[in-house]
Amino acid sequence: MVDAPIPFLDLITPHRELEEELVAASRQAIRVAAFIGGPEVEGFEREFAEYCGTKFCVGLASGTDAVRFALMASGVGPGDAVITVAHTFIATVEGISQAGAETELVDIDERTCNMSPQALAAYLKECRTDQATGRPLGQRTGKPIRAIVPVHLYGQAADMDAILEIAGRYHLVVVEDACQAHGATIGGTRRAGSLGKAGAFSFYPGKNLGACGEAGAVTTNDPDVAKYIRMVRDHGQSQKYHHQIEGYNGRLDALQAAFLRIKLRHLGDWNRQRQVAAARYSELLAPLAAAGAIVLPYEPSWSGAVYHLYVIRTQDREAVAKALNARGVHTGFHYPVPLHQQECYRSWGYAKGSLPVTELVASQILSLPMFPGLNEQQQERVGAAIEAAVHIAAQ
Ligand SMILES: *Cc1c(COP(=O)(O)O)cnc(C)c1O
Repeated sequence: MVDAPIPFLDLITPHRELEEELVAASRQAIRVAAFIGGPEVEGFEREFAEYCGTKFCVGLASGTDAVRFALMASGVGPGDAVITVAHTFIATVEGISQAGAETELVDIDERTCNMSPQALAAYLKECRTDQATGRPLGQRTGKPIRAIVPVHLYGQAADMDAILEIAGRYHLVVVEDACQAHGATIGGTRRAGSLGKAGAFSFYPGKNLGACGEAGAVTTNDPDVAKYIRMVRDHGQSQKYHHQIEGYNGRLDALQAAFLRIKLRHLGDWNRQRQVAAARYSELLAPLAAAGAIVLPYEPSWSGAVYHLYVIRTQDREAVAKALNARGVHTGFHYPVPLHQQECYRSWGYAKGSLPVTELVASQILSLPMFPGLNEQQQERVGAAIEAAVHIAAQ
């Protein structure tokens, strides 16, 4: 008998397990015709703020809106520049652009794959200072820099203490892209999304906490940020048909909020299952790492990563991925082309080699199957397949 393929992500099982509850929530929403706003949205906002350890949470239509609105609420707009990384999903930069600002890129740390505080500090040190605002001027755009967006990629928090310290020196706002890091901790207790001025979350179905459709949220301790986002998500009105600003249609719908409340109760358990699976991978793959065939994910001592993805690095990852696929092990590349090398940002003019660590890492990363419920037998098969694959790739 041929072994069943090992999916990259299993979205079917958790929904089957919660099917009765999810269907009951849909039925209830339809019976009372509660689709936009109302108690489910407010309830989820309260519960997710509590989970993240923030005073406020504002539910939104997507994670991209969350990045955009969090920046707008933090005073970022046209004429400003924002620093982020190129090793992320494009939505981070879409959020910056859609807030009206321009993007400046800094390199990542080779071990964590997150924003390098050293690269950030070195970058800012080399910026000229704007006479009018006293802010550093972006090296690419020449625009005064107002904010930094660290991304907690793969479910691991960026080095926020170092980044916040640097941001403080230059009076810059820090907005976290926590779209892959629901529940990730720093120092065991402080959660992603509670560390900067605001945190942006996505509840796209494949995330650690996913809706049954599109959804997102911003978390913050700042009442003015929460108030602004409540208004801007709802056509700029704080009172019906009285528009203080021109806003957007960016609300979280009530049905998704109801689904998210049900699933939030399982997030801690799901994250623990991911952590157990990650530890098992690291143990299984340790000999291959020791032999120099692969590089394993690195967790600093302060980090409590929630492994949205388990990402190894290897030479010739295309060949390794192909060999794994042939053995029924499905993988992914997150992300194969760094943002400064994307077609749509060609006009930014970043030369090849301008972000060397980002470019190196992007060419070697390989995401292994990772989801709650991934079992020991499956992981052993993944381990055996990788061992065979790196030998094939090395030939
Ligand atoms: C998923 C994701 C987003 C965007 O979320 P959407 O809900 O799809 O708009 C933003 N940033 C990162 C890093 C993400 O992974």
